Amino acid sequence: VQLGQARNPKVAAWLDGRKPSLLINNEWVPAQSGKTFDTVNPATEQVLAVAAEAAAADVDAAVKAAGAAFTEGPWSKMGPAQRARLLRAFAALIEENTDELAELESLDNGMTFATAQAFIGVAVESMYYFAGAAQQIFGQTSPSAPTNFNYVLREPIGVVGAIIPWNAPITAAVWKIAPILAAGNTMILKPAEQTPLTALRLGELAIEAGLPAGVLNILTGFGPGAGSAIAEHPQIDKITFTGSVQTGRTILRASTGNLKRVTLELGGKSPNIVFPDADMEGALANSLAGFATISGQVCVAGTRLFVQRDIKDEFVENLSAYAAGIKVGDPLDPETTMGPLASREQYERVTGYLDLGKSEGAVAASGGNAIDGKGYFVQPTIFDGVDNSMRIAQEEIFGPVVSVIPFTDEYDAVLQGNDTTYGLAAAVWTRDVSRAHQVARQIKAGTVWINTFLELDPTMPFGGYKESGLGREFGANWYQHYTEEKSVFLKL
Ligand code: ADP
Repeated sequence: VQLGQARNPKVAAWLDGRKPSLLINNEWVPAQSGKTFDTVNPATEQVLAVAAEAAAADVDAAVKAAGAAFTEGPWSKMGPAQRARLLRAFAALIEENTDELAELESLDNGMTFATAQAFIGVAVESMYYFAGAAQQIFGQTSPSAPTNFNYVLREPIGVVGAIIPWNAPITAAVWKIAPILAAGNTMILKPAEQTPLTALRLGELAIEAGLPAGVLNILTGFGPGAGSAIAEHPQIDKITFTGSVQTGRTILRASTGNLKRVTLELGGKSPNIVFPDADMEGALANSLAGFATISGQVCVAGTRLFVQRDIKDEFVENLSAYAAGIKVGDPLDPETTMGPLASREQYERVTGYLDLGKSEGAVAASGGNAIDGKGYFVQPTIFDGVDNSMRIAQEEIFGPVVSVIPFTDEYDAVLQGNDTTYGLAAAVWTRDVSRAHQVARQIKAGTVWINTFLELDPTMPFGGYKESGLGREFGANWYQHYTEEKSVFLKL
């Protein structure tokens, strides 16, 4: 089998048999304009499939379907137990089709097959969590005066637009679909133009699971065009977006027309702080995973590695040895541990930062270059001699590139760690319990890991401080972002 071709006959047949189409009202239809666009396999730079290019007219049609399903359709008549049942059926189908979905994800995005499998596992667990959570959205009774019986209802918001990025497409899709539907909303999902395929396959599985028409509509297309039409649409009640800060700002502005509720999960430049008393093996392995997982195209990536000055050189040497163990190549080869970047755009961005790092005076202790030949491959890169004020330490690169920055003591680590416009995640490595908690308290980030990295759990809120976002997903209060409160006053 050649690089870039499907191994699994089911995946090959699916790719061959598909017509470019959008999912609206449980029907697969072409874009009204008839336009399509190519999605490219980042390992070969060859066209993998053709997708329909949605625009404002298609968004309109999807909004009509979603609106009808919400107000009149079967969705509005279902209780939470039925929604939970449907989400469980959907989750079970995703799990059953893990290998097929993982291969498709790997072909479209470039992540390794094993990584795709692991991320699908996370997605399945999350969908089961939200299925159960659908039946846990309680309102309140108020301690009213004896003359009244007052209570607070929690109701779904209505039609939700979800716009997601290309770095972990299935997980990103499920992290929107599951809570939005669990809370009783209907929705329009727009996957990223670089990776439209697995969202479409999820749409097929949703129909197979029995999701009623109009509940989940899926529109492939570009940001300006499909995405902007979703952000601006007056009948979309809420928008939830995961992606770059710049696009987050654009979406926030575009959504002011009808004052949409907005949740934004944006970028990061997460500090990963290693003290000399840390478990070094754990710190090294996780520091590596922290910047190399999905070729570093992870919003919580630990791309600013703060190491205490006295142990910095030794740590860099050991981390370089770990990095040398990364096998970059065909993401469907089981030996491969790092695939290509997801798109040409991303390849140009990352190689641009590799050049910038060198011109800013950083030294590549490991890697530092693109890999010649076809495909968007770059070397995992450890930049030493970085100052936190350099652009490579301040701007999100979204590639397998880490900046190592020395610090003197706890105060200095926190000061430098917080010296960023981002605040998504952070990690601290130490055996000193007090220090671990003190640093965790002082770091301005939505998630702090102590002696671990990259852990997410649907019971834990996820989101950013500062320019890393607006609002939180998951956690015990997850439904606050997908429901409205209604105060009902009754005079006795
Ligand atoms: P990147 O720059 O890394 O591709 P983006 O934040 O631009 O990340 O993309 C994430 C998602 O946002 C994609 O689905 C993309 O199509 C969408 N998007 C991009 N620009 C806009 C826009 N102006 N309005 C709505 N969605 C957009």
